[in-house]
Amino acid sequence: MPGSTPSLGAVIVAAGSGERMGAIDKLFVSLAGRPLLAHALAAFQQCPDVDRIVLVMAEANLERGRELVAAHGFDKVAGFCAGGPRRQDSVRLGMEALGECEWVAVHDGARPLVTPGLIMRTLEAAQETGAAVPAVPLADTIKEAGPEGLVERTLDRSRLWAAQTPQVFRHDLLLRAHREVTADATDDAAMLEALGLPVKLFPGERTNIKVTTQDDLRLAEALLEARPPTSSPAGHRRLH
Ligand code: C5P
Repeated sequence: MPGSTPSLGAVIVAAGSGERMGAIDKLFVSLAGRPLLAHALAAFQQCPDVDRIVLVMAEANLERGRELVAAHGFDKVAGFCAGGPRRQDSVRLGMEALGECEWVAVHDGARPLVTPGLIMRTLEAAQETGAAVPAVPLADTIKEAGPEGLVERTLDRSRLWAAQTPQVFRHDLLLRAHREVTADATDDAAMLEALGLPVKLFPGERTNIKVTTQDDLRLAEALLEARPPTSSPAGHRRLH
């Protein structure tokens, strides 16, 4: 919509404890020549649909985060805030810092392989229902097991998808979900689903991995290095 309010705001959440990584602070680990967190920020900075970004970090990392943003000239970063105990608390705090906009993209700072093209495709996919999630079909067979490691059941793989970020929502829907849903959720889409709101899945990118372990760091580095030097959003249509 034309007017003074921005069309797509982004909340990048990077306030997790990173327990699965051991002692390393993964956000600032150098990956293919720049800190891990700078990769996701660069994709949002370069995406023409994104008007402004809020970065959510652990209190102890805020200063370093500010320095990183200044050093890379990410001038779409309009705000920083400290995260909360759960991911959804961090997103809610980020939304408060972001303020009014028509659409919100929520992205895990731990996914450095996001591209401007994927952000644009997510916004496009969200137009119909107001909520869209990139997802990839599962390659492995998924089993549910009890505490002893004994299989209780095998799920029907043909209906299962691995959900990624960025996830894009109409601002009013995401705000409502964060106000009304208090149960734990591991992504924002699940909060809309809990209210019975439709969420559209569309094809994500297999390379858009979440870096949680040291093995993931090596994989992310290999994937980044295999990329052409600049991934440009050229060729994708701006929606508004
Ligand atoms: O823990 P999980 O893998 O779900 O984290 C996904 C993203 O959410 C990460 O980028 C992490 O830093 C962020 N997060 C957060 N605040 C929390 C927990 C996770 O910003 N309390």
